[in-house]
Amino acid sequence: MINTNYSNLKANYLFSTVAEKVRAYSEAHPDADVIKLGIGDVTKPLAKSVIEALHKAVDENAVAETFMGYGPEQGYGFLREALAKYYKTLGADVDADEIFVSDGAKSDIANILDIFDKNCHVVIPDPVYPVYLDTNIMDGRQVSFLNANEGNIFLPMPEDLMSDAQPDIIYLCSPNNPTGACYNKEQLKVWVDYANKLGAVILFDSAYEIFADKDGLPRTIFAIDGARTCAIEIASLSKTAGFTGTRCSYTVVPKELVRDGQSLKDMWFRRQSTKFNGTPYIVQRAAEAVFTEQGYAEILENIKLYQTNAKIITDTLDELGIYYTGGHYSPYIWLKCPNNMSSWEFFDFFLEKAQVVGTPGEGFGENGKGFFRLTAFNTPDRTQEAMNRLKEILK
Ligand code: PLP
Repeated sequence: MINTNYSNLKANYLFSTVAEKVRAYSEAHPDADVIKLGIGDVTKPLAKSVIEALHKAVDENAVAETFMGYGPEQGYGFLREALAKYYKTLGADVDADEIFVSDGAKSDIANILDIFDKNCHVVIPDPVYPVYLDTNIMDGRQVSFLNANEGNIFLPMPEDLMSDAQPDIIYLCSPNNPTGACYNKEQLKVWVDYANKLGAVILFDSAYEIFADKDGLPRTIFAIDGARTCAIEIASLSKTAGFTGTRCSYTVVPKELVRDGQSLKDMWFRRQSTKFNGTPYIVQRAAEAVFTEQGYAEILENIKLYQTNAKIITDTLDELGIYYTGGHYSPYIWLKCPNNMSSWEFFDFFLEKAQVVGTPGEGFGENGKGFFRLTAFNTPDRTQEAMNRLKEILK
């Protein structure tokens, strides 16, 4: 009667164990000044333009003449047009008709699997955002891993596949959570050519694209030649514009993406219009404001602040000679635990000796063992203080 695949899910106690350890420590040391660098959520409030758009849209709904009921399942044209223009600035031609507005990348990452066969062979990087693995386990799909490690600077390529079975679906996340590593154009081109050759589909998660705003790095897979016949991109305003609580994302399925004679765009449209009734009008107006000149300048201010925090962390790790990836194009910094400590040993050491909280790497996959994730979402002062303490305890 029930989906027995759920019994194959590994319980992930990572975040609850972290919370419990911090709670116990704070209870035993009520005066301790604990600094949290484990936060995976943004901390800056919504931009002024976004707030104004929200207020205006709320007021429109207060009168019959401008009240908005059900909207188009794919998203309002005004937002899809704004997103198509945004894609142009990222060097990609995407039609408004290929963009599907949604209420979060997490939902789309899970829901997109509806259009794929349960017998597909799925390839997932290790370590990575755990939702890819769990949603496939729930469907009972065969999963193999891509070996991300120090040797490939946590940017696995096709030769790092840990199985001989031919992939049907390949997940890529760049800039990556948790490693912060970001593929360059040449590397993504290798992936695109590989997927086209095999007829595989790349599910490209670009939730952190705004942090890769330098050094010519690709911020969308559609900046790569050939991606339109092999890729689906899932993007989000959560980290870009602080929409973690407001909820808005978008998924791009190009017209040219066809498998077994079927247009995946048409299938996704069918799926969404059957099972989803659209993102709230109010939220879509707020999202539209992000892509105005003023709105974008405002959100970049917040991103710059997070980038400053990331730099404080990477400068400290450079000074201490600790191996890490990320930070330069990402709000995540993925470091090798000093003195060969395990992830949890370092977690306890950092909390007890310096009252700083991070996230043990092993929560993101086997290859996370011995690694640790710090995030750039605290304030510059607190981030600097945490790094001063790190230097002190490693003296
Ligand atoms: N993709 C990655 C890689 C993430 O790290 C997250 C959130 O942390 C998401 C997707 C989820 O984004 P959303 O808030 O749009 O559901």
